[in-house]
Amino acid sequence: MNIVLFGPPGAGKGTQADYLVKDFNLFKLSSGDLLREEIIKKTDLGNKIKSIIEDGSFVSDLIINNLIEKTLKDQTIINKLIFDGYPRNVEQAKNLDKILYKYKKKISCVLCLNVDKNIVVKRISGRQICNKCGLIFNKFFNPPTNKNHSCSSEYLIKRKDDNEKVIINRYDTYLTKTLPLLNYYKEKKILREINGNVEIDQIYKEICSIISSLETWLYKLSLYIYLF
Ligand code: AMP
Repeated sequence: MNIVLFGPPGAGKGTQADYLVKDFNLFKLSSGDLLREEIIKKTDLGNKIKSIIEDGSFVSDLIINNLIEKTLKDQTIINKLIFDGYPRNVEQAKNLDKILYKYKKKISCVLCLNVDKNIVVKRISGRQICNKCGLIFNKFFNPPTNKNHSCSSEYLIKRKDDNEKVIINRYDTYLTKTLPLLNYYKEKKILREINGNVEIDQIYKEICSIISSLETWLYKLSLYIYLF
């Protein structure tokens, strides 16, 4: 099973992906995380990526497709992927289909989290990330506590591109470049739309029920292929 989490920046894709990794033994592949890892390495590529991300624009398809392809060389993760932030346009989606096809796999389901612009802005401006364990929190909606976070609060950081001006640019880029991708997945009949304006737990409950029914369906399908 390979899943794409789709939605505007701040929709909660990363948070939902973290929950799914824990409960369904999936591997989270976040294109934003891959790019930030390059920045930390301080390579020429990393420095180039840094200024693009800080501006809220898209990194080129060539750069991001190469990073994804490199990660997917690890075949142990191939059929348990949860994509967060990738693909972000039709070219990237076609590239992903091509890579998975090499391994005789495909995207099983695209979960689209629909969130209003005002909620996106609030969610992103309150976002905090733990620099040590990678967990994502929100000081308004999901603050770190002793129960959900074991690292010291000194590790909590705010992303540089999580400021209001850049958020608006990222949201507008989502509308013009990423949203058209929905039709690509609609035509493939693998798109499921979810109300992402509600609380984290409520969104997660809906995602879990979709994934559980998908697991049952995939199991029945494999049984059918085995028997006939
Ligand atoms: P994210 O962590 O998904 O919010 O991504 C942070 C930033 O990384 C985005 O605003 C883009 O600048 C860049 N980025 C992440 N994923 C992609 C992608 N698939 N294509 C192009 N740029 C990306």
